[in-house]
Amino acid sequence: MASKSLEAFLEKNIAELKAQGLYNTIEPLESSNGPVIHIKGKEFVNLSSNNYLGLSTDARLENAAIQATLKFGAGSGAVRTINGTLSLHDELEEKLAAFKHTEAAISYQSGFNCNMAAISAVMGDKDAILSDELNHASIIDGCRLTKSAVIRYAHSDMDDLRRKAREARESGKYEKMMVITDGVFSMDGDIAKLPDIAEIAETYDLITYVDDAHGTGVLGGGAGTVKHFSLSDRIDFQIGTLSKAVGVVGGYVAGRQSLIDWLKVRSRPFLFSTAATPGAVAACIAAIEVIQSSQELQDRLWEHAAYLQKGLKQLGFSVGRTETPITPCIIGDEETTQKFSRRLYEEGVYAKAIVFPTVPKGTGRVRNMPTAAHTTEMLDRALTAYEKVGRELGLIG
Ligand code: PMP
Repeated sequence: MASKSLEAFLEKNIAELKAQGLYNTIEPLESSNGPVIHIKGKEFVNLSSNNYLGLSTDARLENAAIQATLKFGAGSGAVRTINGTLSLHDELEEKLAAFKHTEAAISYQSGFNCNMAAISAVMGDKDAILSDELNHASIIDGCRLTKSAVIRYAHSDMDDLRRKAREARESGKYEKMMVITDGVFSMDGDIAKLPDIAEIAETYDLITYVDDAHGTGVLGGGAGTVKHFSLSDRIDFQIGTLSKAVGVVGGYVAGRQSLIDWLKVRSRPFLFSTAATPGAVAACIAAIEVIQSSQELQDRLWEHAAYLQKGLKQLGFSVGRTETPITPCIIGDEETTQKFSRRLYEEGVYAKAIVFPTVPKGTGRVRNMPTAAHTTEMLDRALTAYEKVGRELGLIG
């Protein structure tokens, strides 16, 4: 019989979420997560994937996954430190280090796992972490595993970071101190001020940690935000995901050899969670080769982003402070934002509403993720729907 306290907890909390319109139901796709998707037999222009370069359905990745699966099997059979490390894992890590311009790299089963793994492997109860207030949930959870003091600084506010770093250092309370930031912020598309962060870090002896989930494959010729600012030798941890522009699944840390050696003996998801599957690892290797071999997909991604952003602005919408392909269309209150996204859906455009508590109250937005795989015809279909729904809801003239 189910526990009465569990039943009461679930009933109360699910009812509360439903009352607030925050109870998310999931609609499975009947197609790949490409530029056009199918749900319940209907076709949509898809503006919600993180498949920036369209690589998740690239034949080169698919074939690599098939060949590796046939050779090594569907699963890796053990954690990395028992005997789950296949030659493929080492090959991926060598490729990642070269791609990120670092001495070495370590890979994980997901980007989320990577933040769980890497922060707590070096930070302890005598340490402090300075964290941007808009950092991703996996960074927040990774910090919680450390028992370090967590000091949040105002989003990309370098004066606030500098002040808090100085106060923390001068307090004499902490041994190691770390600054953590997303490279590109996923809700607004703005880029972290990494040159300032590197300078502040040098002044106050901070370990630097950049989560480049949304910068890799997008900025710096594909190598990411750190390369974009030419800071490869001034950032200690370059972490990221293999699930967005790389198009598969997984996560990694790239950095100096001694750091990676330490993570291989001390980061818990590496030690205690089964290694990534051969198919996924081989597809990641193929993806990095594709990204390194040509700028073409990145150029197409940026062209499509510019096209969509210009189109939305011409219609009278705001795309906020984005500097990257992430294209928020700022609507405002929560209810109108949800309604906007629902109406777009009815018009054949899949673009998710993002509202409080994910973003501050009153800044609800429909977030659009154009990719290299879209065509301008698809983006025009989306813009036509935006125009129709925007007029209908009185948001544009
Ligand atoms: N960090 C950031 C900044 C992210 O946006 C994401 C993706 N949701 C992750 C980490 C987690 O990556 P993954 O989806 O590979 O677990």
